[in-house]
Amino acid sequence: ETITIQELANRMSERAVDVIRLLMKQGAMHKITDVIDADTAQLVAEEMGHTVKRVAESDVEEGLFDTPDEDADLQSRPPVVTIMGHVDHGKTSLLDAIRQANVVSGEAGGITQHIGAYQVTAPNGNPVTFIDTPGHAAFTAMRARGAKVTDIVVLVVAADDGVMPQTIEAINHARAAGVPLIVAINKVDKPDAKPERVRTELLQYEVQVESMGGETLEVEVSAKQKLNLDKLLELIALQAEVLDLKANADRVAEGTVIEARLDKGRGPVATMLVQRGTLRVGDIIVAGTQWGRVRALLDDKGVTRQEAGPSFPVEILGFSGTPEAGDRVAVVESEARAREITEYRERMKRDKLAARGGSARGSLSDMMSQLKTAGRKEFPLVIKGDVQGSVEAIAAALEKLGTDEVGARVVHAGVGGISESDIALAEASGAAVIGFNVRAHKEAREASERAGIEIRYYNIIYNLVDDVKAAMSGLLSPTL
Ligand code: GDP
Repeated sequence: ETITIQELANRMSERAVDVIRLLMKQGAMHKITDVIDADTAQLVAEEMGHTVKRVAESDVEEGLFDTPDEDADLQSRPPVVTIMGHVDHGKTSLLDAIRQANVVSGEAGGITQHIGAYQVTAPNGNPVTFIDTPGHAAFTAMRARGAKVTDIVVLVVAADDGVMPQTIEAINHARAAGVPLIVAINKVDKPDAKPERVRTELLQYEVQVESMGGETLEVEVSAKQKLNLDKLLELIALQAEVLDLKANADRVAEGTVIEARLDKGRGPVATMLVQRGTLRVGDIIVAGTQWGRVRALLDDKGVTRQEAGPSFPVEILGFSGTPEAGDRVAVVESEARAREITEYRERMKRDKLAARGGSARGSLSDMMSQLKTAGRKEFPLVIKGDVQGSVEAIAAALEKLGTDEVGARVVHAGVGGISESDIALAEASGAAVIGFNVRAHKEAREASERAGIEIRYYNIIYNLVDDVKAAMSGLLSPTL
């Protein structure tokens, strides 16, 4: 627990200069943005005549999330699916096609709304939830914020184009998250479709589909001709059965914000994917630094609901401000508690921003010491390079550095500039980012600054390997 001098002064309603002066008297020189530990802060506060009540995170957020359920209370829940793949391979078309096909034959027949996720019924009668934002940017951004919403990734590969850079990225993102893939080979209606080639190319990335003797489920589809969409849903249902997804519906709700915006007429609107329990109108909820009382719940057909259970996406009206995608949502017992939690988080956020200041959290040496304290003996890396050959050479060289005690783990290696999605992946995986003869895009640079992830640039492989080696040796236990 730490606090900045500014924040400490704010909370005591004292001037920061007075705090600095007091610390100076005790022999410590500080700037207003400096961070001091909780014990020092307590001494300062008492010295200045304040009574101190230390509130630990565990007190304020105690019991908010992840309280255990009895096995007997668990029921199976629908799978949550994200569609990923290379640009233009048909992710959006597939999402639309699945939804339309289902609405036509479906019971409600309402007008579909884009709320960030929707639910359809698989041929076996079980529901399936799709996250309505294709691609891995949203997926990884959420994961970077600690939210795990996706159970299954559908990897779309266009049969006329084959495996492309973002296909590989998607594979690596899903793998880093430990989420199983189903391969959907799309655009098989096209005369130049070569589904066989897709299967072979995927082997290079250790995705072995069933017809190649592997275990990854696969289906040939055409989003355009609505071909085999039922088959895809069947496979999803099958994969869900294997995963044996369960949740307790009979408890207060917990979930994640999928999308949120400020609506001119309706105020803050957030879509929550309920992950456990049941959310009801009237519930008091907190999400990130926002809270509210649920005024209305709407499903993806715009139909009002009184409640929403596990894996169900609902739009929530009633938040006092707009939460952020990836915020975890919890139900609390009173408005007072909601306020306490959100105010506390607000403070933490400010402290963190102030504390971050210049120092980068994701510098190689910082990361090594973090890994060391966490007792981990692998060094995750995201590598981007100018040409495939050099990327492969680097990945191979780094993997060779490994010893019994410590090794580099290449979370993702690809060709091209460092993108925002690379940074998000690095953040989610606790990885360092390395650019070889490439630079970071502007958005990526900004994202890395926000996240405190250091990007290292190299143009000589030897230097790169040497640096990683040096950083890794910091991980090794001292020889006796
Ligand atoms: P995304 O970038 O992956 O979301 O791809 P889109 O869904 O926007 O599709 C890119 C292009 O491919 C569009 O012009 C679609 O009409 C086309 N497309 C998508 N699916 C199919 C398909 O199954 N067959 C054919 N022939 N074209 C398709």
